[in-house]
Amino acid sequence: ADTLLDVRGLVTHFATRRGTVRAVDDVSFHVGRGETLGLVGESGSGKSTTGKVIARLIPASAGQVRLDGEDWLALSGDALRRRRRDVQMIFQNPYASLDPRWSVFHIVAEPLVTHRVVPRRALRQRVSELLDAVGLDPSHAQRYPHQFSGGQRQRIGLARALALDPKLLVADEPVSALDVSVQAQILNMLRAIQRRYALSILFISHDLSVVRFVCDRVGVMYLGEMVELAETAVLFREPRHPYTQALLAAIPEPTTRRLRTMVPIEGEISSPIDPPSGCRFHPRCPRAEAICRQEKPAFRELAPGHHGACHFA
Ligand code: SF4
Ligand code: MG
Repeated sequence: ADTLLDVRGLVTHFATRRGTVRAVDDVSFHVGRGETLGLVGESGSGKSTTGKVIARLIPASAGQVRLDGEDWLALSGDALRRRRRDVQMIFQNPYASLDPRWSVFHIVAEPLVTHRVVPRRALRQRVSELLDAVGLDPSHAQRYPHQFSGGQRQRIGLARALALDPKLLVADEPVSALDVSVQAQILNMLRAIQRRYALSILFISHDLSVVRFVCDRVGVMYLGEMVELAETAVLFREPRHPYTQALLAAIPEPTTRRLRTMVPIEGEISSPIDPPSGCRFHPRCPRAEAICRQEKPAFRELAPGHHGACHFA
């Protein structure tokens, strides 16, 4: 498909008192128009940081991001303010980002007013359309966030994010705080919205079953690096990287439904402050050999459309 977002060699380091956190280190991927790309990994893998850099919430240290062919990280000042609407982000806890003193109408209308995208007389109509699109009753527009359930609040946050008709939605653990029964409703709604608005989605999650349900392709991150990237069906059927294999082996049979989240695999995740030499996964990898400690494996194409970073994949 036609590429909307193209990320090349993205690096994000933070200076801390304990040292430099290498949160994202040389990560490359693209998201097609109308495509959902999943980013999965344990906490500390750099997936949220990647999302925030793309949403221009935090700066990159190096690398290039192109949005619709344009140098997205080079935009600043007025140019950035005008274009910010193209990439919107939603978070795990929508309540934290919804002002409790604002009515739903105010919350959803505010970006439309700020960016002057619809004339004032058309505001009410546009807000009603957006609430309808996310499955909320437009007649509830005068209510306040506390009058809604967690799932409904995520819908409100989404209506606000969609108000500016973004090209890309960065969704960081959008259903992780919700009951399993509500998760499916929100995910189905996201898919419907994606079709309706021809939206591209970068879907960040630690939950493999959720990612499998919504994503066209999936990238697996480990300690700031992309270790495997493939079409969803291929990744789940034939994982090639030992880390992906371990993650999938740790998922219980779908029939048990007992554990849906990522089960910790053998060994502690290393620190992104002082990551292991060579392949960062080597201290936990059952297939590690001498070369793995010395040489960083290149992220290369293993089969058409299937990339991985392992000396032995
Ligand atoms: Fe394991 Fe070596 Fe492959 Fe890294 S490069 S995943 S340590 S086998
Ligand atoms: Mg996170």
